[in-house]
Amino acid sequence: MTGTTQDDYTDRYARRVRGMTTSEIRALFATASRPEVVSLAGGSPYIAALPLDAVGQMLGDLASQHGATSLQYSIGQGTVELRERICEVMTLSGIHNASPDDVVVTVGGQQALDLLARLFLDPGDVVLAEGPTYVGALGVFQAAQAQVRHVAMDADGLIPEALEEAIEATARAGRKAKFLYTIPTFQNPAGVTLSEERRERVLDICERAGLLVVEDDPYGMLAFEGEAPLPLRARRREGVFYCSTFSKTFAPGLRVGWILAPHAVREKLVMMSEANVLCPSAFAQGAVTQYLSTMPWREQLKVYREIYRERRDALLGALDDLMPAGTTWTRPTGGLFVWATLPEGLDSKAMMPRAIAARVAYVPGTGFYADGTGRNNMRLNFSFSAPDRLREGIRRLSGVMEQELAM
Ligand code: PMP
Repeated sequence: MTGTTQDDYTDRYARRVRGMTTSEIRALFATASRPEVVSLAGGSPYIAALPLDAVGQMLGDLASQHGATSLQYSIGQGTVELRERICEVMTLSGIHNASPDDVVVTVGGQQALDLLARLFLDPGDVVLAEGPTYVGALGVFQAAQAQVRHVAMDADGLIPEALEEAIEATARAGRKAKFLYTIPTFQNPAGVTLSEERRERVLDICERAGLLVVEDDPYGMLAFEGEAPLPLRARRREGVFYCSTFSKTFAPGLRVGWILAPHAVREKLVMMSEANVLCPSAFAQGAVTQYLSTMPWREQLKVYREIYRERRDALLGALDDLMPAGTTWTRPTGGLFVWATLPEGLDSKAMMPRAIAARVAYVPGTGFYADGTGRNNMRLNFSFSAPDRLREGIRRLSGVMEQELAM
C-alpha cells in the first residue's frame, strides 16, 4: 500500500534531521512530468541534443575495452585523467592557473556543496547567499544546521552594498558568517549575471571581512551572447572555492562534478568525500573522460547554446506578448532560467494547483528562499521544452493568472 504512513521514528532522529521537510519542488515534479503538462518547472538539460548513438558506442567501449578500470573502484579525489581534463575545461571559462592536484571530483555539483558545508559549517553558523538562491544549496545548508541570510540582487546580480550590510548585520547579531555562497553567472533561479565591475567589489568586500567565497558555476559555459564574465576564481586564487559540474554541459545522469579548492584544504575535502561515498563512480568518470578526449564536446557546447538561445527567445517573446500587465521578468543572457515577478495580489504557491489543472507547471518562488519569501515570484525553465511548447505553456499560465486577477 502506498500513501502517507505514520512516522514512528520521529523521536529517534538526529537533531539535524528534525527540521527537514520535503522540498515542495521535488513533490511537484511528479505531476509536472505528465506528458500533457507543459513543464516550465524543471532544470533539465535537453539531452536529446546529444549524439546518443555515438555516446552509446563510447559507453559500450568503456565497459568492453576498459572494464578493468572503469568497473573497478576509483580513488577518493577522482582519476588523474579526469582531473587533467577538468583543468582543460576550466581554461574555457578563463581559469588558467588550476592544477589537477587541487581538483576534487564529486558526485555532481551537489556533493561539492555538501562537502564544503561539512568542511566549514558548525550548527548555528551563518551562510550568506543571494536571494533567491539554488534550492539544493538551501537543503545542504539546512542539513548542516546553518542559517542562511539572503542578500538582494538586481539585474546586475548581487548588490555589493547589500552584501556589506548583511555582513555587518550578522556581526551585530553576534554571529559569524563563514562564507558567501554565490552563483554569479546565469544565476539559478534568477537568471541574472554579476557584472564585471561588481565582481571585483564583491571579492574585495569578502576579503576585507574574512569571508570565504563558494562560487557555484554550473552555467558559465552556456552563454548566449559572447562569453560570460571571468569567474571569481579566475580573479582570486585564495579564499575562493570554485564548484562546477558536467550536468548542464554533458549529462546529469552521470553525476560528475568538481571542486577547485585552495591547495591546503584539498586533502580534507578528499577525506570527507571518502567518508561520504568512498570514491566517485569510476564508470561515470571514465565516461566523462572519454567524452572529453574522443568526442567533439566544444561543438556540442555550441549546439546547446544555440538551442537554449532559441528557446530563451521563444519564452521571452511569449512573456512579452501574453503576460498580464504588472508582471515583470529577468532577461537572461545564458543558463536555463527566467525569474518572474507577478502582479500585486497573486500568490504563485496558492495558484499552483490551478496551473496544473490548466496543464502548465512552474516552480513557486518560495522554494528558493530560506525564509518563506518569494510568494509573488516563479522560476520558469526554458531548456527542456521546444519553442512552440514554451509559448503554449505561457499562454496557459497567463490564462490562469488573468482568472486569478479577476477573482
Ligand atoms: N548548483 C546549481 C546552481 C545548480 O543549479 C545545480 C543543478 N540544478 C547544482 C549545483 C547541482 O548540480 P548536479 O546536478 O551536478 O548535482
